[in-house]
Amino acid sequence: MQKIVSYHILIRRVACDHRNDNNDVAQNETKLAMDNLTAVLYGIDDMRLEQRPIPDISPEEVLIAMDSVGICGSDVHYLTKGRIGHFVVTKPMVIGHESAGVVAKVGSKVKNLTVGDRVAIEPGVPCYKCDHCKQGSYNLCPDMVFCATPPYDGNLTRYYKHAADFCFKLPDHVTMEEGALLEPLSVGVHACKRAGVSLGSRVLILGAGPIGLVTLLVAQSMGATEILITDLVQHRLDIAKELGATHTLLLTSDDTAEQVVDCVHHTMFEDPDISIDCCGAENSTRLAIFATRAGGVVVIVGMGLPEMKLPLFNALAREVDIRGVFRYCNDYAAALALVASGRVTVKRLVTHHFDIMETQKAFETAHSGTGGVIKVMIHVQPRNTNNPVKF
Ligand code: NAD
Ligand code: ZN
Repeated sequence: MQKIVSYHILIRRVACDHRNDNNDVAQNETKLAMDNLTAVLYGIDDMRLEQRPIPDISPEEVLIAMDSVGICGSDVHYLTKGRIGHFVVTKPMVIGHESAGVVAKVGSKVKNLTVGDRVAIEPGVPCYKCDHCKQGSYNLCPDMVFCATPPYDGNLTRYYKHAADFCFKLPDHVTMEEGALLEPLSVGVHACKRAGVSLGSRVLILGAGPIGLVTLLVAQSMGATEILITDLVQHRLDIAKELGATHTLLLTSDDTAEQVVDCVHHTMFEDPDISIDCCGAENSTRLAIFATRAGGVVVIVGMGLPEMKLPLFNALAREVDIRGVFRYCNDYAAALALVASGRVTVKRLVTHHFDIMETQKAFETAHSGTGGVIKVMIHVQPRNTNNPVKF
């Protein structure tokens, strides 16, 4: 990774050097207010910290002083590969989409928020007009503007504007980090809803990364009584166990589904009626199909190869439904309710903290996968001390 360039320290130093002169203080406060340090992805392994203008807002938008931004696997993928499927980084793009901040300014038509509100940001804003939007499946909107999915900018920046109706006010006891974690948690909520998890469900979750772990937490809260989770890394399974998985299964990447399916069946009290793939490996998706009981459901969350060899005859002959998951849709409120009520504890997922100035190191840590990393959190403000400038 190339070195990240930063102008931020320079701006702060200018502000301090002249603090005895009142006029200069006023001027320097303006300069601080204009500090909009932003993490911009220019291309493969080329991320830079640079100043960007503070955005103007429209009547339906709010300006947000960003606080916490989690790094997602997709952010790392755009940095290291420059693309995910047909989404290609062709021009500089601000990174980051798992986020929370404090409202610094509200548009004239905004009724749900006021300055000072602490909010989680649902990062995708749909068109509101197409059939999918009108029918309530706005996650399928073809004109979705989604943070840090090319060509749209994300929000690892000091000041960011967003549609007010895609901001969720956090109760005082919910932290900014938890607010940022509502993004992956909403994927887990959507996956469990699509799977039909309910009281007494027996669930197989494949992959114990952040997405597998949030899916585990949500499945528990929706009443699943037996959950087996798999992974290739023992440490991740240890955390899954800590979070309440009833069984864990350590696999190797060479294990075939045919070799492992009996082990799954012997480990669980009953064969799973739901399997949720949260890693995207072909052998894992194959295992999901083989392991699920007849009449059950397989949900695919993991984004793997565009094409895979899957045992479809096995699925059709046993009426196993295969369902996709694309992000979330009307799931943020439920995710927030789970966290605010204490039904789900997401904090355990955050293993590493960095300041925005350390963005490069934060991405290296997330990419390395070592040191017991699960979720890396970047703090745009010092932890839990957000005090946004008012405009
Ligand atoms: P991650 O890479 O951190 O975690 C994946 C985990 O799966 C790792 O712990 C890895 O060791 C494990 N794994 C790999 N191969 C395996 C195998 N054969 N069997 C069992 N475990 C295996 O990623 P994440 O952030 O947890 O995301 C998981 C997947 O979900 C990724 O593919 C991501 O792109 C996808 N995702 C999809 C959506 C969606 O809307 N569908 C949203 C977010 C993430
Ligand atoms: Zn739409």
